[in-house]
Amino acid sequence: MWKALCARSKTFRGWPAEAGIGQNSERPPRVPPGRPVRAVPQPRRGDAIERRGSLPLLPRAKPARPPPGFAGARPIRCRSSLAEASASLENPWQPVCALRARAKRRIVETLAEIVTFGELLVEFVATALGQSFESPGTFEGPFPSGAPAIFADQAALQGASVEIAGCIGPDAFGEVIVRRLSGDGVSVKSIARCANRPTGTAFVAYRAGGERQFVFNIAQSAAGLLGEDGIRSDLLDGCRYLHIMGSSLYNRGAILAARRAVAEARRQGSLISFDPNIRPELTGAPEVREALWEILEVCDLFLPSESDLRFFHPGLTADQAVEQILDRPSLTAVVLKRGAAGSRYVDRARRIEARAFDVAEVDPTGAGDCFCGTYLASLLLGESVEQALVRANAAGALAVLRRGPMEGNSSKSLLEGFIRERS
Ligand code: ATP
Ligand code: MG
Repeated sequence: MWKALCARSKTFRGWPAEAGIGQNSERPPRVPPGRPVRAVPQPRRGDAIERRGSLPLLPRAKPARPPPGFAGARPIRCRSSLAEASASLENPWQPVCALRARAKRRIVETLAEIVTFGELLVEFVATALGQSFESPGTFEGPFPSGAPAIFADQAALQGASVEIAGCIGPDAFGEVIVRRLSGDGVSVKSIARCANRPTGTAFVAYRAGGERQFVFNIAQSAAGLLGEDGIRSDLLDGCRYLHIMGSSLYNRGAILAARRAVAEARRQGSLISFDPNIRPELTGAPEVREALWEILEVCDLFLPSESDLRFFHPGLTADQAVEQILDRPSLTAVVLKRGAAGSRYVDRARRIEARAFDVAEVDPTGAGDCFCGTYLASLLLGESVEQALVRANAAGALAVLRRGPMEGNSSKSLLEGFIRERS
């Protein structure tokens, strides 16, 4: 109802035509036929919306940090089942009296241009190279993590409006995640706090050659409760990119959530970007493998790493695999992440190479997620594909400089300073 009261903001910058996407005549129209045409232009995610009164429109919602004096306030209590656990965590530190006071004020809210969903975890990182899981060692953490969380955080830091859906437990680990995300500007109102399960965890160790090994606790944790009902019917209203990560297709509920999100994206005319982010520890089940193929068939923009390509086309070189994958009419472009070799954009007409920045890698985890978050945010900010690749490479390089999955995420000013310094 409130939508009808709102006029569309002037901050919408149009579809990223430079990206070569969004121009496919096969795409569903933004307003499906048969829908009533409204006299008042509808808001989209990313537009600043004023709910009441006449405050000037703001470009973005303020990140929700614990306000001074509320540091010890309890988050909003959780309910017992996922269906019930829809308590808003947008600012979980606010006690009820503060929420009431806020409701009386005029509220300015931003809708998300980028929506993602999936595993919300804390991660513990082995401190020594070659340290194995088979014998005691030192692990550093808890670090806020989960591939979609790293992605969402980075896209928000780059200036996009982003919302993430997922589940955390009623514990300090969950708070670590929500606090970081909301502090960096991600909308967390679709994160449910589930009373009966702890927040998910991941442990990562590095073999002597740098190859990573993971121990995940996702399916048995709160993250394992994500299901279809985790995707609110209005979550994708006007969203411009639904970003799906292959690591988020970890069980039946998460796959159903992905299908629901895809259906909503199609209804809205949002583009679907897909980072397969293959983790051998999570891709054993046939339904997970099928779901990875299923999302490949529906995505507009595919952002694999070279090792991800081997999952889809084991016997082929990267170039051959990209060529085969681009055969799908729905797919507009492939952006290949190539670690220390940089990245490559390929569509049916162009091939663009972008060199990596020369850095001494400390921890590779999160580089791909930072790359994707920066790439999409850059397109939304109106950058060309070439510029978006440079920025995404810089974000990946900054990510590998810090130990911890999300610790190397970078603000816009840090990223731009880094690029200036290295150019
Ligand atoms: P993830 O482990 O997060 O899944 P990924 O395999 O999806 O990572 P990568 O190719 O490892 O993605 O990293 C993404 C981008 O980050 C690369 O395309 C590159 O631009 C940058 N990057 C990664 N590693 C390095 C490095 N060692 N030096 C410089 N840049 C790097
Ligand atoms: Mg990856």
